[in-house]
Amino acid sequence: MEYDYDIIIIGGGGGGMTAALFAHAAGAKVMILEADKKLGGATQYSEGVVYAAGTSVQRAQGIEDSAQAMFDYIMTLNAWQTRPDIIRLFAERSAMTIEWLISLGAKYEWVVKSGVDTVPRGHCTVGAGAEIARLLSEAVGGQGIETVLATRVDSLIEENGAIVGVRASGAELRSKAVIITTGGFGNSPGMRAKYFPSVAQHGDIVYAVHNFAPFILGDGIKLGEAVGAAVTGHDTGLMLPSAALIPNAVEAFLPPWTMLVNDEGRRFMPENSPYAVSGYLINEQTRSHAWAIFDEKTMIEGSQDKRFSDPYHTGAESQTWDEALIRKHAATGKIKTAPTLEALADQLNIDRFALAETMRRYNEDAHAGQDSEWQKVSPKYFPLENGPFYAVEVRASVIGQTSAGLDIDTQGRVRDIHGRPLPGLYAAGEVLGCVQGKRYSGGGMGVGNALTFGRLAGEEAAKYAASKAS
Ligand SMILES: Cc1cc2nc3c(=O)[nH]c(=O)nc-3n(C[C@H](O)[C@H](O)[C@H](O)COP(=O)(O)OP(=O)(O)OC[C@H]3O[C@@H](n4cnc5c(N)ncnc54)[C@H](O)[C@@H]3O)c2cc1C
Repeated sequence: MEYDYDIIIIGGGGGGMTAALFAHAAGAKVMILEADKKLGGATQYSEGVVYAAGTSVQRAQGIEDSAQAMFDYIMTLNAWQTRPDIIRLFAERSAMTIEWLISLGAKYEWVVKSGVDTVPRGHCTVGAGAEIARLLSEAVGGQGIETVLATRVDSLIEENGAIVGVRASGAELRSKAVIITTGGFGNSPGMRAKYFPSVAQHGDIVYAVHNFAPFILGDGIKLGEAVGAAVTGHDTGLMLPSAALIPNAVEAFLPPWTMLVNDEGRRFMPENSPYAVSGYLINEQTRSHAWAIFDEKTMIEGSQDKRFSDPYHTGAESQTWDEALIRKHAATGKIKTAPTLEALADQLNIDRFALAETMRRYNEDAHAGQDSEWQKVSPKYFPLENGPFYAVEVRASVIGQTSAGLDIDTQGRVRDIHGRPLPGLYAAGEVLGCVQGKRYSGGGMGVGNALTFGRLAGEEAAKYAASKAS
């Protein structure tokens, strides 16, 4: 058979460019097909945090860590409801990803605890995702890897049970192997309803951080399904809490100066919990929501300090928790407000006595400077004592990452519905459904997945292509 390329890569985001670079380095003739007018995908808009253990950056900062510790953390947080072989591979190869990024020119000043882990593993890339995308696309260009933009792949070519190319823009392109790196499906309401119903339930206010990357529509899942690929990881992904006071605002972190209660009038988490747990906990409450309560004084003083919204040191700021915006929505009734806590409880349909008791304990602790029950650690822990009081409804309605998708084995080969590898088909990145598990373990798991599994797919597809006669 005549082949146009050894490997065709569908999607030129972080995973696709990484796969291309490693496949090219292994001697394969590679082409990237990208639907958008530029390379970079969601990766270029990310905060650029990369999750990894045992890196030179950690060592330079005196942080002791290991692949085993990263494996243990992710498996434990997920109650072992994720694949140990995949997580083992991820943990063991994660440091290579950081060292490789550094070799391309990436810089790291901060490593942060980006989940509920005990060790800082969130490597904050200086210049965020834009810098990662710039470094990767420069490397792709520098290596002379062929890239075709504005070309959306419609289907895979299958012959005798093997994947041997793609169809796009009315043309057929033949290759010995194909790698799917099309990212997630955050921008597709239909895919969200089908594969991420826990967030889709929030209706009109649902928003995906992928918004600026127009082709994050789940194409890779559909391409795979059409040739018999399995889809796994149903209803998993990163759900971020949001007050939805501005349409399409992203606020991954809630301010520490509010008291968050459920419909029973009880607290259920430290208000400033990392998003490895916060959205999930809010979604598990009655009516899948919570109320962020504060008083006038706290709103004025607390909202002036935005440091809580930028734990990754990227310069990002909360768009929502501003005094002016809160007052505006209090005037329209979207934010509830009342002169006394009892009156606020009545408006929210919360038992007055439960809310009063929760507030009593909260204020006692705030005066003592220690959250005895929920262990919030925060420099912004105000007593909430003098009306008017405010209540902002919070839902886990922002999609930070979709995690349902294709299933791979430890060679990056896409598995079919019977669990067998589909010859010639590889995948990496957010299109995978077998990496994240029930919980998004921490900031950096998305880019980490894209780059670590992108490398694996590139290396393995190159070996497979080399084994096939031209
Ligand atoms: C605002 C924001 C902040 C984030 N912050 C972080 C963070 O700090 N750390 C972290 O780990 N994760 C973060 N994430 C998530 C992370 O960016 C993604 O999970 C990861 O970058 C996905 O990489 P990928 O290569 O799989 O897909 P992408 O980088 O999204 O690339 C997929 C590419 O495939 C193309 N494509 C799709 N369909 C087709 C088709 N049919 N034909 C051809 N091309 C196609 C798309 O146009 C796109 O360019 C963030 C995401 C966003 C949007």
